[in-house]
Amino acid sequence: MLLERAGEPLRKIEMATPSPGADQVLIQVRACAVCRTDLHVVDGELTEPKLPLVPGHEIVGTVEQLGERVTRFDIGDRVGVPWLGWTCGECLFCRNGQENLCDLAKFTGYSLDGGYAEYTVADQRFCFPIPELYSDAEAAPLLCAGLIGYRSLVKAGAAKRLGIYGFGAAAHIVAQVAKYQQREIYAFTRPGDDEAKRFALDLGAVWAGGSNESPPEKLDAAIIFAPVGALVPQALRALDKGGIVVCGGIHMSDIPTFPYAILWEERSICSVANLTRRDGEEFMALAPKVPVHTEVETFPLEEANEALDRLRAGKIHGAAVLVI
Ligand SMILES: [Zn+2]
Ligand SMILES: [Zn+2]
Repeated sequence: MLLERAGEPLRKIEMATPSPGADQVLIQVRACAVCRTDLHVVDGELTEPKLPLVPGHEIVGTVEQLGERVTRFDIGDRVGVPWLGWTCGECLFCRNGQENLCDLAKFTGYSLDGGYAEYTVADQRFCFPIPELYSDAEAAPLLCAGLIGYRSLVKAGAAKRLGIYGFGAAAHIVAQVAKYQQREIYAFTRPGDDEAKRFALDLGAVWAGGSNESPPEKLDAAIIFAPVGALVPQALRALDKGGIVVCGGIHMSDIPTFPYAILWEERSICSVANLTRRDGEEFMALAPKVPVHTEVETFPLEEANEALDRLRAGKIHGAAVLVI
């Protein structure tokens, strides 16, 4: 399913099966989850995709062919491919354990072709083994919703009372991990979205309300997954002294001005960009222990446009996954 120009629907086409480079594996794709980032790419809010582009960066599949230098995997292995697809290994960020910020990073389904396809190639360094507990479709959302959610949760530090704004794919995974870590979840949903509230409470949130409401307790941290800048000052107002607002998305509408008083007392705001391989290894080890259960709505590959439309309209319960 090919994106030829931003703002247009994906087109179903026949392409030649890619051949793996020396450090790459050829993967037969079994499932690929649909991420909000894909919407930002398709809608043109992320402005520098390779075009034409096969989107998709939450890929689960089996290794079909090995590049000549591949040693980490064998043919037939089940692997997952995340958003971070390649790093230089040499820049200051790569050498400092911040490969997520690599100057030359390439991203799956953005600067590299991704998983809305029957086959894809990926650098062996950025493929993860998938825990056995999960089916292909259930595992797919772990690759971004799970990983970025996990990185966001780590940024929240030791916060006991944790607010989550936007209760979609990432939030439904983070809530389970946070509960396992004995934190309290306060879920903020679109005002009036009773179904999302119920979903959050079912996942163990101690409180669920509209994003315009105040929680019953001051929060130690808030993670914002919704791409809505106006939520930043709202989340700051819900924080206790020393609290942090973590923005988990790659794109957000502008943040309105706000009085310094709501940032004062050592509150802070940070963003989460991409992931490191270490995040992936830690999270893939943690997920089956919780165990994280992913709620998925599956679509055949050729219905990718339908899946994107439903995500845009806020109609997906948990995560949308294309199955091949
Ligand atoms: Zn680098
Ligand atoms: Zn993503």
